[in-house]
Amino acid sequence: MQIATTIAEVRTQVKAWRREGLTVGLVPTMGYLHAGHASLVDRAAADCDRVVVSVFVNPTQFAPGEDLEAYPRDFTHDCAVLEKHGCDLVFHPSVEEMYPPDASAYVELLSEMPKQLCGKTRPTHFRGVCTVVAKLFHIVTPDKAFFGQKDAQQLAIIRRMVRDLSYDIEVVGCPIVREADGLAMSSRNTYLSPQERKAALVLSQAVRLGQDMYAKGETDAEIVLHAMRAHIAAEPLAKIDYVCAVDNETMMPVLALCEGTLVAMAVYIGKTRLIDNFITGA
Ligand code: AMP
Repeated sequence: MQIATTIAEVRTQVKAWRREGLTVGLVPTMGYLHAGHASLVDRAAADCDRVVVSVFVNPTQFAPGEDLEAYPRDFTHDCAVLEKHGCDLVFHPSVEEMYPPDASAYVELLSEMPKQLCGKTRPTHFRGVCTVVAKLFHIVTPDKAFFGQKDAQQLAIIRRMVRDLSYDIEVVGCPIVREADGLAMSSRNTYLSPQERKAALVLSQAVRLGQDMYAKGETDAEIVLHAMRAHIAAEPLAKIDYVCAVDNETMMPVLALCEGTLVAMAVYIGKTRLIDNFITGA
């Protein structure tokens, strides 16, 4: 497995692969890798001849006061995980390599999509995500790019960016990987104290509750969301940011659940903001 820190190194390697007629998959990450990330790498290795994984804590997707400095990092461990899962090239650039000091070009969806759900508390987040992913797409020029359903709004926004900007890239969404007790894997789970770790189970429990209600025939979004919110609110360490049902393509709220509706939540457990979701009928 190769490790590249510059854009030029990545371009040289990808061009060499292309000359051999090989297909390339890209998995963008912020590192501190867990089994959720590894599942994306596995899928990329199954679908593509060569796999590039980026490990970059992207400053433009953090607002002032968020956890940019505290965000966990362990590049040695990340490389061990990636090697095991069939990654061919790790792209681990510095902030300066990705963003010249006077960089002023951004990629942003101007529709309502990035303003819904996480966009309400993180109004500049998806601009940072789109910008870094657009740059990675230009640098790696992958045939396919792999993203987790865990970040459902991010996945929908990237799909829309790819459509609107005519990238010749297939975006592949991959299922949420969970701990044995249901908690969706996240690099931020490391922030949780043992007591908070237990409290964090209300997210996946609310997901199960919503899934069960829909499976039993309840399609009134407010009834399902109310039950989910009540379950979370019963946990003293939990504070709801949002629990919403939206159209999975536009991210706009829906009143009735139908097959393919996204039911998504963000909940603070202590100071840590966690997200989880499900798609009805999936
Ligand atoms: P991050 O490093 O948190 O930016 O995540 C990098 C990629 O891994 C994103 O596409 C995430 O959606 C995906 N991912 C993170 N956690 C999980 C998980 N538990 N299951 C599946 N994919 C995940």
